[in-house]
Amino acid sequence: MEYKIGVIPGDGIGPEIVAQARKVLDRVASLYGHTFAYRELLLGGACIDRHGVPITDETVEGARASDAVLMGSIGGDAKTSPWYKLEPKKRPEAGLLSIRKALGLFANLRPAVLYPELAGACPLKPSLTEGGFDILILRELTGGLYFGDRHTAVENGLRTAVDTLTYNEEEIRRIAVKAFEIARKRKHSVISVDKANVLDSSRLWRAVTEEVAKDYPDVTLSHMLVDNCAMQLVRDPKQFDVILTENMFGDILSDEASMITGSIGMLASASLNDTSFGLYEPSHGSAPDIAGQDKANPIATILSASMMLRYSLDRQEEADAIDRAVSQVLEDGYRTGDIMTEGCQLVGTKEMGDRIVERIRKD
Ligand code: NAD
Repeated sequence: MEYKIGVIPGDGIGPEIVAQARKVLDRVASLYGHTFAYRELLLGGACIDRHGVPITDETVEGARASDAVLMGSIGGDAKTSPWYKLEPKKRPEAGLLSIRKALGLFANLRPAVLYPELAGACPLKPSLTEGGFDILILRELTGGLYFGDRHTAVENGLRTAVDTLTYNEEEIRRIAVKAFEIARKRKHSVISVDKANVLDSSRLWRAVTEEVAKDYPDVTLSHMLVDNCAMQLVRDPKQFDVILTENMFGDILSDEASMITGSIGMLASASLNDTSFGLYEPSHGSAPDIAGQDKANPIATILSASMMLRYSLDRQEEADAIDRAVSQVLEDGYRTGDIMTEGCQLVGTKEMGDRIVERIRKD
């Protein structure tokens, strides 16, 4: 098969880590007989340097013409980079918000995976995490409290602020469908997280999720209140497969979940719209402090490429081959500086990419 992949190398460590993910994809292409036609797109600081703005129509059109987009990360050091002397809507991050909006990316996937080999980085007791865990948080990204009407006014002599949390059934249904589809590619379990004991929006969330579940009899649905979920993540993280939740709860829970893995350089992410298209990127930023030094961990970006194969291109076997190669390289003791522990072998960005490439095998 031939796939069109938009590639946004981005800023800081972005170009270095994206180069490793491309090596991995090229290896997959040659093993499985695919062609990945890459088209480089500019976004963020690199786009400001070339065009004076963080995103152009060409970037949006290029992304729209692609089956999926793989991105490094964008942005620079806010204290020293000239990009941050520009007005806010011309700064690197504005490009990211614009592309998410232009492509209608409403579903945010944040995996939190603890590899048994990296269990030492996890702040939880070993008895809770033995064997590792693999959680996927699916967060609604374009509705809810962050997008509702808001105002601040003086009422009865007191400064009073109001934020509104709105969801309609269509917004809930489309993200619930994504959750069940994704669960089918994993362990067939969805835990939907809400605050249905208090909020009307949560009661509607629960009702619509139940309706969608009827179309997926092979997937188990259960509900959990958000306060309980926050506790359960640190009490028994192994109980979770797919967590489905609204925007603000997802914002908080996905950061909590990433902390219990302890390894920022290992965490992938994706944002999807209502087609199979997705934008795939590591969860971390552009790490300007280590840019250009061959120190960055490329694994989050390589795992983002694996998610791209799984969720946008529907190539499960190929995605599994990448995931196995990453596990194998960790088992064999190779580590970049951020995940280094005694007795392991320290490698740079490029060598980590090479070691993963040489472990990719057809099952
Ligand atoms: P960061 O994630 O870039 O870095 C935080 C710390 O983690 C740094 O010490 C860094 O060296 C380390 N780190 C991050 N990724 C690593 C990797 N792959 N390997 C090894 N170490 C790694 O966060 P920050 O410093 O707060 O932000 C830097 C820039 O990135 C800012 O401009 C910020 O706006 C931007 N940012 C972009 C995105 C994105 O593109 N989606 C996300 C977060 C931050």
